[in-house]
Amino acid sequence: MNPTISALQEAVHRANLELATSGLVMGTFGNVSIADRRAGLFVIKPSGVAYDALTPAHMVPVSLKSGDVIGSSLRPSSDTLTHLELYRAFDCGAVVHTHSEFATLFAQTRRSIRCMGTTHADYFRGDIPVTRPLRPEEVADDYERNTGLVIVETFRERELDPHQVPGVLVANHAPFTWGADAAHAMELFGSRSWMVAFLVFSAGLQTPAPGFPWHAATIAAVANLVSVSASILGNEIALRIGRRPWIMIAMAASGTTGIVLGLSAPWHWAIVAALLVVYSMLVMAESATLTAGLVAAAPAELRGAAMGLYSLAGFGGGLLGPVVFGVALDAAGGAASVAAWVIAYAAIGSGCLAAPFVARLYGRG
Ligand SMILES: [Zn+2]
Repeated sequence: MNPTISALQEAVHRANLELATSGLVMGTFGNVSIADRRAGLFVIKPSGVAYDALTPAHMVPVSLKSGDVIGSSLRPSSDTLTHLELYRAFDCGAVVHTHSEFATLFAQTRRSIRCMGTTHADYFRGDIPVTRPLRPEEVADDYERNTGLVIVETFRERELDPHQVPGVLVANHAPFTWGADAAHAMELFGSRSWMVAFLVFSAGLQTPAPGFPWHAATIAAVANLVSVSASILGNEIALRIGRRPWIMIAMAASGTTGIVLGLSAPWHWAIVAALLVVYSMLVMAESATLTAGLVAAAPAELRGAAMGLYSLAGFGGGLLGPVVFGVALDAAGGAASVAAWVIAYAAIGSGCLAAPFVARLYGRG
């Protein structure tokens, strides 16, 4: 099977296991899927396989276009058609469904979760909506697809932006959430987790020794800190020039800068550090798709009703990024080769670099 699919299967497998141990899943009522829009598919947990027997190869690829299973004999999760409709309507990269206790309570009592705290507001612009109940005929026939359609209807009728409100309560059922564009999350988490290693590598190439005037970890911490302001700035720019064009510009710029950063390893440390800061800022600059990804760091600690919803959003690319980076680095010659670092940065940035072309291709401007 092609490498993109195996990497996705790996990430989906891990995400489902983490979901199972997060305390958000009762029994086997939960699933995560991750999409690769360039490959035109998403990967989801199979149905009818016990959690402890699951391996990455069990994860089922499904075509975004036809909804057909691709190259697997297993049946995809029973919620697959809901995931499919969400991918088709929303520009998201991962979908998570749980029956987490508190969110399900809200869903079954058909109450939206009101925005009453700052943490909620950090991740959701406003209340978390609840759909209308499905009609008897919608329940009887094609229930899973209709669940997806009723979510899409809720967002369309109430004019909600799925990026601003990345989750919903399905009336009488449970929550569905979706996360960041996987391409973007892949770049963010991939670059974050390999930043210190890259700096250490670059420091070893510096002449004269001893390389950098500060510890690699200190430089990385400063770059991360500074980059936070970029998401606020990015939001301002998005308001002025429009969200879609801004995402395209930021993605193309971050993808390109990543490659230049890889190339810069043997250059003067001041240039390396400056490029790293610029790169980190560009990766953070598209804030709306990021909000979800940021919480992925601590899913186990987040337990409240709303918490349960967004803690897992943006998960997909977050898990995929560091793995893709490492695999590319190894495949291209290992951590001692400048070319390998260039290729690793290109690999995590590839989704972002491709984004403007993909958008043009599908006419989503
Ligand atoms: Zn369910």
